[in-house]
Amino acid sequence: MIYGNFIAGEWQLPGASGTFPVHNPATGAVVAEVASATADDVRRAIDGAEAVQPAWAAMPAIERSAIIRRAAAIMVDRIDELASLLVQEQGKPLAQAKGEIMYGVGFLDWFAEEGRRAYGMTIPASVSEKRIIIAKQPIGITVAITPWNFPSVQLLRKLGAALGAGCSMIAKPAELTPLSALEIGRAFEEAGLPKGVLSVVCAPEPYEFTDVIMADPRVRAISFTGSTEVGKILMRASADTMKKVSLELGGQAPTIVFEDADLDAVVVETMASKFRNMGQTCVSVNRIYVHASIADELGARLQAAMSALTVGDGLHELTTVGPLVEPAAIEKVERHVADAISKGAKVLVGGSRSSGLGTDQFFEPTLLIDVDETMQVMQEETFGPVAPLSVFTDEDDVVARANATPFGLSAYIFTRDLNRAIRVSEALEFGTVGINDSTFSAVQAPFGGYKESGLGREGGNMGLEEFMETKFISIGHIR
Ligand code: NAD
Repeated sequence: MIYGNFIAGEWQLPGASGTFPVHNPATGAVVAEVASATADDVRRAIDGAEAVQPAWAAMPAIERSAIIRRAAAIMVDRIDELASLLVQEQGKPLAQAKGEIMYGVGFLDWFAEEGRRAYGMTIPASVSEKRIIIAKQPIGITVAITPWNFPSVQLLRKLGAALGAGCSMIAKPAELTPLSALEIGRAFEEAGLPKGVLSVVCAPEPYEFTDVIMADPRVRAISFTGSTEVGKILMRASADTMKKVSLELGGQAPTIVFEDADLDAVVVETMASKFRNMGQTCVSVNRIYVHASIADELGARLQAAMSALTVGDGLHELTTVGPLVEPAAIEKVERHVADAISKGAKVLVGGSRSSGLGTDQFFEPTLLIDVDETMQVMQEETFGPVAPLSVFTDEDDVVARANATPFGLSAYIFTRDLNRAIRVSEALEFGTVGINDSTFSAVQAPFGGYKESGLGREGGNMGLEEFMETKFISIGHIR
């Protein structure tokens, strides 16, 4: 199968720059070849967006809403096919792939409606003859750069908001997983989206794409999800043309389990957060702090739950943990585990690659105990199926340990004490805090990070703001 790029409403077949392969991380097989976009392709996508932007912005929100909803319905009709493709390019278990697509469709439905509620306001003026009107307007041509871990929802969350706000969007999916984004382009084409409002440009060399985008003053906003390192590069590069930047970056999520926690809930929530997408999730629990009085019991319960997981190809019905996306990802996980063991951690379950499953990119669900802050697992984002357990006794001390990171995306606490839940959730420097809840994803809530985890918010009513300008119209008195 060969995919072209979707540029200004046309499918562009591979040109002189050829194609690049997309591999199935479970089997190593080539799933498809994708045309490599050139700098000229990127410019054509911007030209196409420029041509249609005024008409798209002027279209009544209710009509834009109908097109977005049609695309959502097409994706639901094709859920089996889309989910299978997502598993093949990314590796997650099939049920999770379906869940991801339906979550993304939820963003389309949400923003189809939010676009109809892009309210402005009037404000009492200080002079009786004057009137002050505040209007919201689409920012214009936007760009989405998305990572490989959720190839469908990461784009749909941005795209729904941009389209709902009246903006055009050029999407650049991760080079490891471009197929879901191309299929999203197809769904919108079939839904009747005007040509040029959405382009999907697959650039195996992201720097070349960024150079064209950043140099072009017609592009007004960049919405990026990915690593903090690349987020910083993009923020610096956007300064010359002063583009609006929203950044959803890396995390290093702590879970704090207090002595009065409901351990059944801790296990269910932590397993879901830790092992969804093989731990390759920015909000995945990365370090677990457990009160010393219940540490052994929680360790034993997590050990039992993790031993019951099934590692394998995401397309197999029984699989609950698929392969990691690429060799570099599993090498990082191995490095973190080896580092922890060399500094005194003990392995309760797992600890190494699973063999005999296809590629060598499968890692056993792993539980580490006797972990402390000198270890990489407690400092960096592991992005893999490894759960480190570290013991605490004092509330202030554990909050300080949880906050001692440059990241601030999400954190979780488990307690039955309402006062403590409020106190600790307010003290944690994270954009999302789950109280007795580690699976908080919701289209109607604003999601984003503190500190080096990002800028701006996606989802909820705030998600639309990232793609809008605020205009102050001052009306004077005509004499
Ligand atoms: P990455 O930063 O390497 O890549 C993300 C995207 O950026 C890809 O499309 C890639 O092609 C592109 N890219 C890379 N270098 C670029 C450049 N110089 N110019 C333009 N584009 C460039 O991240 P990744 O490895 O794909 O994803 C994993 C990271 O994403 C993790 O750190 C994870 O925490 C983070 N993440 C954050 C969120 C969030 O919502 N905060 C969600 C998912 C993942």
